Amino acid sequence: MSTQTLPEVDVRPDGTDQSGDDTPKMFHYVRKAKIAESAVMGTHVVALCGEVFPVTRSPKPGSPVCPDCKKIYENLPPGGDGD
Ligand SMILES: [Zn+2]
Repeated sequence: MSTQTLPEVDVRPDGTDQSGDDTPKMFHYVRKAKIAESAVMGTHVVALCGEVFPVTRSPKPGSPVCPDCKKIYENLPPGGDGD
């Protein structure tokens, strides 16, 4: 078992869950501000990779991380956007 410690980047993993779709569920990295906005506005969120999906469900633990999000996330500067 590994513990994934996220640095101070203003994102969190979130997941797609498209019922009826056989696409594997994955974690995408989504900016927390986007998630909050989505919760309030009822809009979809945009993951780092550009994937757009509603924040309604969470992927199961152990779901794979979107490789595109992971690559982008790893290249983010620490501390997020800053000012
Ligand atoms: Zn992604």
